[in-house]
Amino acid sequence: MAANKSLLILPGDGIGPEVMVQVRRVIEWFDQRREVTFEVKEDLVGGAAYDAHGTPLTDETLADAMAADAVLFGSVGGPKYDDAPRDLRPEMGLLRLRKELDLFANLRPAITFDALLDASTLKEDVIRGLDLLIVRESTGGVYFGTPRGIETLPDGHRRGFDTQTYTDSEIRRVAAVAFDLARQRRGKVTSVEKANVMESGVLWREEVTKLHQESFSDVELGHMYADNCAMQLVRAPTEFDVIVSDNLFGDILSDCAAMLTGSLGMLPSATLGAPDDSGRRRALYEPVHGSAPDIAGKDMANPLACLLSFAMLLRYSFDLEEDASLIESSVRNVLKTGVRTSDIMGPGAARVSTTVMGDAIMRELDKQSA
Ligand code: NAD
Repeated sequence: MAANKSLLILPGDGIGPEVMVQVRRVIEWFDQRREVTFEVKEDLVGGAAYDAHGTPLTDETLADAMAADAVLFGSVGGPKYDDAPRDLRPEMGLLRLRKELDLFANLRPAITFDALLDASTLKEDVIRGLDLLIVRESTGGVYFGTPRGIETLPDGHRRGFDTQTYTDSEIRRVAAVAFDLARQRRGKVTSVEKANVMESGVLWREEVTKLHQESFSDVELGHMYADNCAMQLVRAPTEFDVIVSDNLFGDILSDCAAMLTGSLGMLPSATLGAPDDSGRRRALYEPVHGSAPDIAGKDMANPLACLLSFAMLLRYSFDLEEDASLIESSVRNVLKTGVRTSDIMGPGAARVSTTVMGDAIMRELDKQSA
């Protein structure tokens, strides 16, 4: 069968290549067993690209990322590169990719797996059934706004300052992503800012409300101040469906939501751009975790965050809900059997390597599609 989806795979550094090996096994399984087929290119990024080419992202790799239907990224960085020039550090490869592909909507799901409920610091009945999605604006706001700097005042004291800035179109495009995704989920968006104390928050609320009235009135919309949202996330997280917020609040709230679920080794993410004329969005999928140099090369890393990122890729880039769910239910079932990498070990569970976790997933996929 002719390959119908093009993927660029960038495993990166540290545990990135190890976890990606397991995901590639799953991709091959899909090629052979499901309707979808992939044309896969793999290339270097981060420290690995720096070692080979003197830059963390070559122009050729960037061009391949532009041309691909979706990019699947592992992780970059490591102590070896601590002294590399700042603009050539491994993470600059990722930042350049996000910037050049104009990826402005960062998606971070927080989903609990029943078998791992005890990994959370919250009570089980608070997080059971949790399935929320945080959409964070990721190219604007206070992290990029100007003027910014540190200056010395005439009286000798120093002043640090940043600028929170959003245009109406920046707000509307990320809110449109959140509304679109809510339509595929439970149809509810909570828009989060601090309109009570910030002008950019007032504009945020006005624009989200306008866009809702114009194009998404079938979706339920609520507004919440960011501080209250932080409290509600730990009080009653299952009441949320999709949360949309700016870069700063989204950064904090998505890390808070991530910890509701337990381990870094289980957390996938996506970053999406605007749809082109054909409706195709540029998109990059990656586990939330870094390159974990402390366990790299030891066949210990949990491959599930990267695998769940691939499930997100199937869902959001290719609309393959059934295939995405197949991966997610395989993960769920494997965890139920008590198979665990060391990061998610619990009492009575069996500690396994990265490869053996991959084997268990492959067996489960076979079982589910038998
Ligand atoms: P990290 O996420 O790499 O590791 C934090 C801790 O979690 C470590 O103890 C690690 O062993 C553990 N861990 C992470 N992922 C795991 C997995 N899949 N399975 C089992 N255990 C896992 O964060 P860090 O230690 O702060 O950073 C290490 C390097 O990664 C740094 O160079 C940092 O800049 C880089 N980093 C890269 C990305 C990225 O590529 N997107 C993100 C964060 C950090």
